[in-house]
Formats: sequence, structure tokens, C-alpha cells
Amino acid sequence: MAVDPLIELQDVNKHFGELHVLQDINLTVGKGEVVVVIGPSGSGKSTLCRAINRLETIESGAIRLEGRPLPDEGKALAGLRAEVGMVFQSFNLFAHKTILQNVSLAQIKVRGRKKEEADRRSLELLDRVGLASQAPKYPAQLSGGQQQRVAIARALAMDPKALLFDEPTSALDPEMINEVLEVMQQLARDGMTMVVVTHEMGFARSAANRVVFMADGRVVEDRSPEEFFTNPRSDRAKDFLSKIL
Ligand code: ADP
Ligand code: MG
Repeated sequence: MAVDPLIELQDVNKHFGELHVLQDINLTVGKGEVVVVIGPSGSGKSTLCRAINRLETIESGAIRLEGRPLPDEGKALAGLRAEVGMVFQSFNLFAHKTILQNVSLAQIKVRGRKKEEADRRSLELLDRVGLASQAPKYPAQLSGGQQQRVAIARALAMDPKALLFDEPTSALDPEMINEVLEVMQQLARDGMTMVVVTHEMGFARSAANRVVFMADGRVVEDRSPEEFFTNPRSDRAKDFLSKIL
């Protein structure tokens, strides 16, 4: 049975100069769904994520959140970025603020929470990602895996409707990848709607409802992980999988 759509992309196109980076993209992410996006470098995965968060504009087509077009600017745009949180490869924490301040800041500025309320919520979320004891420290005192978990807590603090992850573990040392993936697995189990660009095929197999395979700016396959990994249809996907598995 089809789930309620949360994010919908319809015939989305975008160029960078001559490069047709998003070509007639049609994609629906249902409420509570986990969609893993994979594909070769340069296929448009980051641009897709950034377009959903309106960090990139599109030239034609439509992107809707809960049936409404994305806002263009101003307060509504800040609201969108809170409702659709993004976690990047580089964690982008403020170096001169504590972990607690990093998680509380946007709650105060964007959500209008009082500092005490924001800090309470931050501590809850830091606890959820296993880092409550690190709250008074500064980002440089934490490992990369810990910093990425703080970035996830910071995104969750906005009470987002969905989270976009753009290669969240690519910058991490191998021994830190699992602690971040485990937090993401737990979010998936808790019903968070997630779009995850990743090369972690174990995560895709165990957490994804669907795998979207992109190549050259197109969605080439959009299927269950089971179907995709056991029986990829396109030569592009077969070729890609033969290189990474
Ligand atoms: P992926 O995340 O799949 O590696 P990207 O979405 O980052 O792919 O990039 C897709 C293509 O668009 C690449 O060829 C990249 O060089 C190009 N590109 C990305 N951002 C820009 C930009 N701001 N200006 C020009 N070209 C860009
Ligand atoms: Mg990318």
C-alpha cells in the first residue's frame, strides 16, 4: 500500500552551465520512509539533496513538501530548512561554541525557544546519540564520529519532518562509521523520514525501504534494496555494484 507522500519531486531539471545535472527527476518519499540514494561520483546526488532543501534552485518541475511547493525566500525558507534537516559529510559545527550551544543555537534563533527549554531539549537529544556527557566540551575535543552525532542531534532539535544525509560517514575513520550508522538505524526504526546518500551498502540493505540509483543526472533505478542488490536491471547499476561490492 502506498504511504502518504512527504517529499515529491516532479519532472525536476537543473543545469550547471552546459551540464544537465538533474534530468527529469521524479521521486516520492513517503512519510516514515528511508530512501538510500547511491550512484557514481558526479551523478547529481548532492545536488538532488540540496534542491530538496532549496540550497539549489531548479529550472523546471516542482518539489513539494506535504503537497506544498517549497518556499522561495525569507522566513518560510528558514522554516523549510528546519523542517527538512540536512546532515553533511563535513559536520559544520561552530568551533568556538560548546556542544550544548551548537545544538541549542538554532532552536533559539529559528524555533524561538527560550535558552533553558532549548538546552533541556539539547541534552535529551545528546543523550539519545550517546553524548550527553560531552555537552560542555568544544567540537575539537570530540572525535569525528562524535561530531557527526552532534550534527545529527542538532538537526533533530528542530523537530524536522525529514532528514537528508549527504555521505554522512565519508569523512570518518573506519572505526567511527558504525557509531554514526547505528544512530541513523535507530532514527529509521523510530519512523523518521530519511533520504540518505551513502556508499554504505550494509546500511542500505538493512535500513532502506527503497534504493534510488542515480547516474548522469537521472534516476536509473528506484526499487527495494532486496530487488536492487540481487537483481539490478540496468548495466549502469550492475557496473557500479561490481565495483563497490
Ligand atoms: P554527486 O553528489 O553525485 O557526486 P553532485 O551533485 O555533487 O554529484 O555534482 C553533479 C555534477 O554537477 C558534477 O559534475 C559536479 O562537478 C557538478 N556541480 C556540482 N555543483 C556545482 C556547481 N555549484 N557549479 C558547477 N558545477 C557543479
Ligand atoms: Mg555528493
